[in-house]
Amino acid sequence: MVEIKNLYKSFGEIEVLKGVSLSVSKGEVVVIIGSSGSGKSTLLRCINRLEEFTGGSIHYNQQDILTSQNALREIGMVFQQFNLFSHKTVLDNIMLAPIQVLKKAKEEASVEAKALLGKVGLEEKASVFPSKLSGGQKQRVAIARALAMKPQVMLFDEPTSALDPELVGEVLRVMKQLAEEGMTMLIVTHEMGFAREVADRVVFVDKGVIVEEGPPEELFNNPQTERLRLFLRRVS
Ligand code: ADP
Ligand code: MG
Repeated sequence: MVEIKNLYKSFGEIEVLKGVSLSVSKGEVVVIIGSSGSGKSTLLRCINRLEEFTGGSIHYNQQDILTSQNALREIGMVFQQFNLFSHKTVLDNIMLAPIQVLKKAKEEASVEAKALLGKVGLEEKASVFPSKLSGGQKQRVAIARALAMKPQVMLFDEPTSALDPELVGEVLRVMKQLAEEGMTMLIVTHEMGFAREVADRVVFVDKGVIVEEGPPEELFNNPQTERLRLFLRRVS
């Protein structure tokens, strides 16, 4: 569904991605792990066209993402900082893109937005403003907002890193439910327990290259490189 081939990305003189190749199949959950600064966010941002890459290619359903309109619409993203519109209610946050981008009627968008709020367990928050929500609730609204575009692939960039520890679980539960429903997901996280439980495949990125990848039990129980062993020792 997503095929990344030999991806390179530099910021000026600094080469951040150095030939990354990665394929994600429909329904697959891939978790990306790695130290800060290794290029994980840059990789996701290239897939979502928030960054222009320097070399290589990314295809979505056999189409080049640089020219595919479907890719733009059907790949959703959730960020560490929730990026909700503070002057809009929760429901309006979710309805905005379906109305503006998909040209949905307000009534239909509202019905769908309420259903999505139910899905993330926040139906009673429809008319409040984001400032009244906890971080975990904000992130669940951000997930509902991304889902409102009916994405075929969801990218998550450290969705729980900005949360107080007691709020992490509620967001991971929503993500786990999405995974169980068959959503194709590419997730950057430091939550190793979640990776073990939910990932089909774990990818370890270090200094702009994929160093190891495989099923979670293989990667976590039997790392093949010293770099991954060191990383796992530091995060566990
Ligand atoms: P990670 O998400 O793994 O922590 P990033 O992809 O955010 O890593 O960053 C990888 C490297 O790219 C870092 O050295 C970072 O400083 C650099 N970088 C990221 N974005 C920019 C940018 N817009 N301009 C310059 N350097 C950047
Ligand atoms: Mg990052």
